[in-house]
Amino acid sequence: MTSSSQVSSIEKTFLNGRVVVLVGDITQQHVSALVNAANWTLLGGGGVDGAIHRVGGSAVLHECKEIRRTQYPDGLPTGKAIATTAGNLPADYVIHTVGPIYGRNPEKQADLLADCYRNSLELAATLHLQSVAFPSISTGAFGYPRDEAAGVGSRAVKEFLAKNSSVAEVRLVFFLKNDARVFLQFQNFE
Ligand code: ADP
Repeated sequence: MTSSSQVSSIEKTFLNGRVVVLVGDITQQHVSALVNAANWTLLGGGGVDGAIHRVGGSAVLHECKEIRRTQYPDGLPTGKAIATTAGNLPADYVIHTVGPIYGRNPEKQADLLADCYRNSLELAATLHLQSVAFPSISTGAFGYPRDEAAGVGSRAVKEFLAKNSSVAEVRLVFFLKNDARVFLQFQNFE
């Protein structure tokens, strides 16, 4: 047991502690923003999306519907990011981004996955946020292999942090210990 329920187990840190890799549930993270691996509808779904909406509650869904109505009537394009309230989650915002479905657009999928990390972090910086927690985008129902996603995601985070000084902590949250292990084996931070 840890003294805090928000951190199940810290596996490793990189870039002088600005990147923290841990095993846990993203809905328990006390951060400025947590990132949702959403789908284009922004209306919720399975996996991490379902968990975030379940804990966040109706305020999150309400804002997602408003964003669909006012900004994205055809849905949020892959790689883009938008922010809503975090409702009952222990964060100030949820940043929703849509990862690529693996194999659907092979030439572009790595760029699109990198866009998710980059655009989410740029939005966080615009909102003056200090800490951002990510799930492992696209590696569940969207089928992105964990080894490939580790390289793409870590490179995008590293490139962003190299040119940004306002985001103090990027937390990469893995549901299962073995998922974190694969990430640590294939990351590009070091
Ligand atoms: P995608 O459709 O982008 O693949 P999924 O939600 O299916 O999204 O899976 C993305 C990742 O989120 C997977 O690695 C899955 O294990 C993980 N995940 C699911 N629930 C949680 C949670 N509550 N906290 C952190 N990670 C989660």
